[in-house]
Amino acid sequence: MLKDKVAVITGSTSGIGEGYARALAAKGCNLVINGFGDAAEIETLRQSLAEENGITCLYHNADMTKPDQIEDLINTADAEFGGVDILMNNAGIQFVAPIEEYPPQTWDAIIAINLSSVFHSMRFSIPLMKKRGWGRIVNTASAHAIVASPNKGAYVAAKHGVAGLTKTAALEVARDNITVNAICPGYVWTPLVEAQIPDTAKSRGMTEEEVINDVMLAAAATKKFATIEQVAALAMFLCSDAAENITGSLQSIDGGWTAQ
Ligand code: NAD
Repeated sequence: MLKDKVAVITGSTSGIGEGYARALAAKGCNLVINGFGDAAEIETLRQSLAEENGITCLYHNADMTKPDQIEDLINTADAEFGGVDILMNNAGIQFVAPIEEYPPQTWDAIIAINLSSVFHSMRFSIPLMKKRGWGRIVNTASAHAIVASPNKGAYVAAKHGVAGLTKTAALEVARDNITVNAICPGYVWTPLVEAQIPDTAKSRGMTEEEVINDVMLAAAATKKFATIEQVAALAMFLCSDAAENITGSLQSIDGGWTAQ
């Protein structure tokens, strides 16, 4: 049922977003992918998504801190494909430091990318979804949308914000055949997680192995990282017809972290 739908996925040149792109392409969706990285690698990804799945895949380089570029991202999908059916808000960054040492410009960047971009992309996409009478919005939040950890003030604040915005948007479009949900992963093995390990080790005075076992997986009852494919499979379910009555929900995929 997702064949020929149009999906925009922010932050899809890497990690979880790339996983969403691969899963949606396999279902026959046409895609607009987005994110930063090496231009040649992004072009290889774009081509392989298109050719391996017989779909059209465009790349748009919108910076998620810039509302006018987010508007252009959504307008490009509309101009090229005639609308937007699925919006996956996924772009995100992390920075770890105690509040009294937290660089204010990093606070602003995390709020812009991890939270405000979700507002902007939804405000430009919802009218297009209403026009087509169907829509699915999946926001990648985090276990940190539900609970906190020290030294992640901006990230925790932004992800709690995404949870609230997801619920609000869901109520606003509930009668329009549009669902809005958030996925709340614990730790997923991606470049973002890998990059946090040295910083966390430094700020907590631990070895990198201790960070993995005693910090990242400390709260996961299963003691496992989730995989990108598992997160993407949950997103595909939320996009399916079977999920039409699931809206405004926070879907945990955290090995039991937030059950405690
Ligand atoms: P990642 O670093 O692999 O991917 C992040 C993506 O966002 C990349 O494509 C990057 O280019 C893009 N991006 C960053 N800044 C951008 C900007 N200003 N404009 C446009 N794109 C930008 O990270 P990931 O682990 O795949 O994370 C994806 C999402 O999942 C994030 O929102 C993150 O907070 C969330 N998340 C990740 C985990 C985890 O354990 N990996 C857990 C919970 C939530």
